Amino acid sequence: MTGENASKDFPIKAGMVYVCRICGAELSVIKGGHGRLAPVCCNAAMTLVARINSIYACPVCGSEITVISGFSGSFSPVCCNTAMLVKVFGKAA
Ligand SMILES: [Zn+2]
Ligand SMILES: [Zn+2]
Repeated sequence: MTGENASKDFPIKAGMVYVCRICGAELSVIKGGHGRLAPVCCNAAMTLVARINSIYACPVCGSEITVISGFSGSFSPVCCNTAMLVKVFGKAA
């Protein structure tokens, strides 16, 4: 499953979204890193899209959530009776 050209490591950012053009599956990065993310679905490389999913963290228990679809600016999740903090600001495609 090695690519045709030797891809370099790149920053993998939380909130990044990839879609499968064949079946429509979506994935979102919850925790970033530095490497060579190259997800494959339906035997085809998934496409990085311009959208960034918001990630929210609970300051009490440390839970992290992301909104996969249906993003609205007024979304305000609550966990442990506390408003969750925005960790990654989302961006529409
Ligand atoms: Zn697929
Ligand atoms: Zn919590």
